[in-house]
Amino acid sequence: MFSHGRDQLSIPGPSVMPDAVLQAMQRPSPNIYAGEMIDIANSLYADLKRVACTDGDAVIYIGNGHAAWEGALSNTLSRGDKVLALACGRFTVGWAEMARAMGIDVEIMDFGGHSPVDNALLQERLERDDGTIKAVITAHTDTSTSVRCDVQALRAALDHAKHPALLMMDCIASLGCEPYRPDAWGVDVTVAACQKGLMTPAGLSFNFIGPKAWKAHDKADLRSPYWDWDSRVHGKIFHQKFCGTPPTHHLYALRTALDIMLDEGIETIWLRHTALANAVWAAVETWGKNGPLKLNVEMAEARSTAVTTVLSGQTNATELRLWCENNTGLTLGVGLPLDDTWGGKPDNVFRIGHMGHVNATMVLGALGSLDLGLKACGIAHGEGALNAATQSLANTFKAAQ
Ligand SMILES: *Cc1c(COP(=O)(O)O)cnc(C)c1O
Repeated sequence: MFSHGRDQLSIPGPSVMPDAVLQAMQRPSPNIYAGEMIDIANSLYADLKRVACTDGDAVIYIGNGHAAWEGALSNTLSRGDKVLALACGRFTVGWAEMARAMGIDVEIMDFGGHSPVDNALLQERLERDDGTIKAVITAHTDTSTSVRCDVQALRAALDHAKHPALLMMDCIASLGCEPYRPDAWGVDVTVAACQKGLMTPAGLSFNFIGPKAWKAHDKADLRSPYWDWDSRVHGKIFHQKFCGTPPTHHLYALRTALDIMLDEGIETIWLRHTALANAVWAAVETWGKNGPLKLNVEMAEARSTAVTTVLSGQTNATELRLWCENNTGLTLGVGLPLDDTWGGKPDNVFRIGHMGHVNATMVLGALGSLDLGLKACGIAHGEGALNAATQSLANTFKAAQ
């Protein structure tokens, strides 16, 4: 009924793209053997590393996040190697399942879908290991649950256990949204993709590689020509760096997206995400004072600032989500399975994406539509959510003055 106007996609990826990013793609195919395209592509590696806060090597794959998952595994591991996967939601489990299908021996430690990795349990497991675990894999932010792990605490667990395993982080949802310093924090491989915090059409993904991961690469027997880091990092010409034709128009888009990000500054981007996430949480907590809605993650420091997973108890969240979509032009994220059953598509969960190209108007618009949806659908809720959200933003603004 109120949906004509500009739609808003508030799902946790693909995210909203800046117009300038879309416009950057509106041009003819370039020569890929000489000229501007080569300079653009070469400039991307350095700027991706700036955004990822690393001096390690960067690799660009033509593929979605799953491609970069496979890239990270195949370049560091051999058939029969053991990987410990720390699951706080659906995405680490997906990565673990991929590893298993590649012939890797996978052990999953499941921390449920509501809290981060228990580092004491991790340390205890690693201390019992007889050296068979070659890598620990997990997600910085698991987008299904919106649980965010404390990467430094994870690293400390490995260090305290004096365990030599590689630490590989899936930062597909968090890169370009949430504070992350892989070199300082001792992460060996970072996996990322372009369609979330990096505001670029889905289709590019990345591995960032530290020195210890290169050592593992020397003896990894899962390496294969397409995924191999070697030619993608050391290759001199496009056909080596991209194992074929480069994704020309995605590279134009990414160039523009990185320009926008570097102009804002990565730390300012992190602060913006934190401020907007705080507003979302303030609203959800207010709704929850009198009704079924509640944040999936109770511990504030374990919440992602890129996506918020909301539980609706016995109330059907799918109806609310679809009401908003059909009547206000707001598309919210579907619920993904959160607990150790990992099956089905639950109706008692939805997700609000607030990653990438989002400002206060967009977030307040989404919260306003949700508030309207709750009223229109007759779902009980505490009043004053919008007020709580704007107060939270105003407090951030004042504190920054
Ligand atoms: C989106 C996402 C993925 C999957 O990425 P695709 O591009 O869909 O393959 C994996 N992990 C996390 C944490 C994500 O947010």
